[in-house]
Amino acid sequence: MSEITDRLVYLGSSQDVTESKIAEEALRTSQSGLARANVQLSAAQRLSQTGSFTWDAKTLELDWSDENYRIWDFDPAVPPTMAMIVDAFHPDDRDPTMAAIEEAALTRSPFDAYFRIVTRSGAVKYLHTVSMPIPEITSHAVFLGSTQDVTESKLAEATLKASEAELARTNTYLTAAQRLSKTGTFMWDLEEDEHNWSEVIYQVFGFPPRTKVSMDMIASAIHPEDMPAVEALLRRAAIGEKFELVFRVLRSGGEMRHAQVIGHRIGEIPDRRVFLGALQDITQQKIAEADLNHARAELAHVARVTALSSLTASIAHEVSQPLAGIITNANTCLRMLAADPPNLDGARLTAQRTIRDGNRASDVISRLRGLFTRKPATFEQINLNETVREVLALSSTELQRRRVIVRTELLDDIPLVLADRVQIQQVILNLVLNAADAMADVELPDGEVHVSSRAEDGGFVRLSVRDVGIGLASQDVERLFQPFHTTKADGMGIGLSISRSIIEAHGGRLWGVSNTSGRGATFAFSIPGALAAEGLSKQVAAMPERVPETDSPSFSERRNG
Ligand code: ADP
Repeated sequence: MSEITDRLVYLGSSQDVTESKIAEEALRTSQSGLARANVQLSAAQRLSQTGSFTWDAKTLELDWSDENYRIWDFDPAVPPTMAMIVDAFHPDDRDPTMAAIEEAALTRSPFDAYFRIVTRSGAVKYLHTVSMPIPEITSHAVFLGSTQDVTESKLAEATLKASEAELARTNTYLTAAQRLSKTGTFMWDLEEDEHNWSEVIYQVFGFPPRTKVSMDMIASAIHPEDMPAVEALLRRAAIGEKFELVFRVLRSGGEMRHAQVIGHRIGEIPDRRVFLGALQDITQQKIAEADLNHARAELAHVARVTALSSLTASIAHEVSQPLAGIITNANTCLRMLAADPPNLDGARLTAQRTIRDGNRASDVISRLRGLFTRKPATFEQINLNETVREVLALSSTELQRRRVIVRTELLDDIPLVLADRVQIQQVILNLVLNAADAMADVELPDGEVHVSSRAEDGGFVRLSVRDVGIGLASQDVERLFQPFHTTKADGMGIGLSISRSIIEAHGGRLWGVSNTSGRGATFAFSIPGALAAEGLSKQVAAMPERVPETDSPSFSERRNG
């Protein structure tokens, strides 16, 4: 402005018309240049949301740009005052900002502050003001400065900080959750043999945290018996397939851990085989499973012995009968030999009968021995019809004593099953004795138990035991399968639950229903035939009589050997 004032003064004193024309032209150019600069400045201020001002620290006069009014949301028609500014400050920022302004005015030093204001409409804005005293004015401090609206970037910063804090928190939770669930995550670059592990995986393998691991190190820590399965997994992974496996790790100290791994290829990296996965330490679970299997096997044995005890009288009879036969036959044989002439043909015949009776008694005893002793589960191909006959041979006298007639309908065309003979005998015995019990209180002249076998679709074999006893009437059938549920005065209530777990371990099902026609109930099971069962050998092993190996020092020996 001073420049323009100079020119006006200059024009005012000129008398030369030509010169005055030139000067007029120059003035116009300069005015339009100034107007353009003003427009540009104002646009720039608006775009950058930066207003400018001057403030006389002595007279407290303020001179604001348009953008400054907009930023502070002040009425452009009302000249701003310090009181209005103080009033607009956010209550929390008012005192510190005013103190900083006073300090700058007093010491005539630059001012640079972030503060919040609350606008007329109640909005909170973050502002950044920088200003400095105009050096040309020496009498007192007159500040020139700019104020920028930094609300957006402050909010973005706050959001970023919050999401960073959230991320840190999530990470903490994740690490804690991984520790608690004994699960670790990993990233595996197959080509580069690069492994990025979280803490838990190092613990499972017993490697110091953050060690650089390689596939060789991992392989050497895996239980040799599990190596074929791991190699198969690696082959599947190599062609980009998903993988899942339970394997054992032998730590260098000889301690064993059971781990379950699951992973898949990261699709976002098409040119490299990089896998993402999780590994869980399931050692405790495995130990608990082994303990449970052990307890279950113990219970199954107790239940079997208990069931057999109800047959003792009949079994004694079963053995004493052939023994009596043996004695009678032997006496007859002696008599025939002592005759004159000796009756050799008759003696031969009675000796043969003696042998037959001896075999009968020994059969009973060997069947019993099988049922009484505890043996590891052994799976062989058996014919269910034969198993039924073996059980009925042991229990027929008892059933006769209870006036229960057993009728069988065993179809010849059933497939062999892959099963543990003793366990299946136990199931059939339970079902037959339960059927007899169910008929005990029913007034029937001749209660009949019907045992039948038949082939089913899919290579399965079904065995049913149908009675005409009290039936299941209003009972919740599933409750009968719960351990220790019994309605009998001397019952243990474990027969059905054990039978079901045996059948399920054979890959089959066991159920009970009320007979639709007539009285009584039918309990039946269906198990896969030997061919269908091939793929089920793993499940079958879930019912071992023997405790599976868990941590044991002999692993390191075996590994070394
Ligand atoms: P327990 O024979 O020791 O009671 P189980 O587990 O074998 O134990 O049977 C549980 C219950 O199921 C029996 O107490 C009985 O109430 C019921 N139950 C089993 N079989 C039959 C059946 N054939 N008819 C009616 N009820 C049955």
